[in-house]
Parts: sequence; structure tokens; C-alpha cells
Amino acid sequence: MTEETRKILTLFQERRAVLEGHFLLTSGLHSSHYVQCAKIFEDPEIAARVVKELIKTFDNNQFSWVVGPAVGGILLAYELAKQLKIKTVYTERENGKMSLRRGFFIPPESKVLIAEDVLTTGGSVLEVADLLTKQEIEVVGVAALVNRGNVHLPYPAHWLLTLDLPAYSSEECPLCKEEKNLVKPGSRT
Ligand SMILES: [Zn+2]
Repeated sequence: MTEETRKILTLFQERRAVLEGHFLLTSGLHSSHYVQCAKIFEDPEIAARVVKELIKTFDNNQFSWVVGPAVGGILLAYELAKQLKIKTVYTERENGKMSLRRGFFIPPESKVLIAEDVLTTGGSVLEVADLLTKQEIEVVGVAALVNRGNVHLPYPAHWLLTLDLPAYSSEECPLCKEEKNLVKPGSRT
């Protein structure tokens, strides 16, 4: 862990962005830990600092749009776009299907970075990628604040923190066996 990564991790802990308990993640998995990146974006100055560090991990910025899935990806995408001086939109689920709403339009052949706060399985990112690719928009990379799983994406991916936090299916979850109260702090509905 580099000095800068250590600082970022301390920041996450200070802002109580890493919680302990029994959580239902947006991926459907259960975990003893939840990463609440919204706590980082509570303070725009801290968010700007964190995103600036994330940008340093990019090897090239060959994209003109950043797209984040709602809700987790919106603020990260916005701050990335602001610092990189490019455009941003967000995707939302409409009847469960990832969509671009609100008149958002990205011209075909545009190069796009997908931004997500926390990568667990990469499920939402792949849904956004699928939506964009069908519109002949080119996905050139993925950026996240935290990678908390063993995510393998078919795009170059950048993140600030790797937090190796356990996640289980409900059948295998030891916390369910202990009958601990399950909390759903996520956003996917
Ligand atoms: Zn459980």
C-alpha cells in the first residue's frame, strides 16, 4: 500500500465510509462490511481530493464522456467530468433495465469511461457497458473508488482502494446462520 493509498483508506475510515454489520449488497450478496462512498461525497472538498487521486491512476484519458449508474455512480462521474473538463450523464433502471433517461444522449462512436463508486461483482458496470455498446458508443475503461471483490472486467479498470472484504451468497452467509439482522443500505430497487 502506498503512502497515498494509506491516506485515502484513513480518510474512508474517518468519514465512516466503511461500516461493519450484516449487509445486503446491491449485487445480492451478503457481507459483514459495507462501503458507503456517499460519506466521501458529503464533503465536496474531500471528494475532489479523492477523485484527483483516482485520476492519477489513469494511463490515458482518451474519453470525452463519463457515465455512472444511479445512484452510486452519479457523484463520482460528475466529479470526474468536472476535473477532466468533459461531459457526464447517468443511467437509471427503468422496469429493472438500465437506461439513459431525461433526454440524455451520447453521440455514437463517442469514447466513454464508466464510473462506479464500489465494484463488487461489476454487475452494474457491465449493464451500463451493454446499454452503451448497443448504441455504438465505445467503452474505453472503468473507474471506481473501491474494488471490494475479485472483479474481472473486459475493460481497463482503475480504482483507488482494494478492500478485500468477504461477501457470501445468502445460503453460505455465516451472519445469516447467527440470525444477525440484515440491513439493506444499497440503492438498487
Ligand atoms: Zn447473511
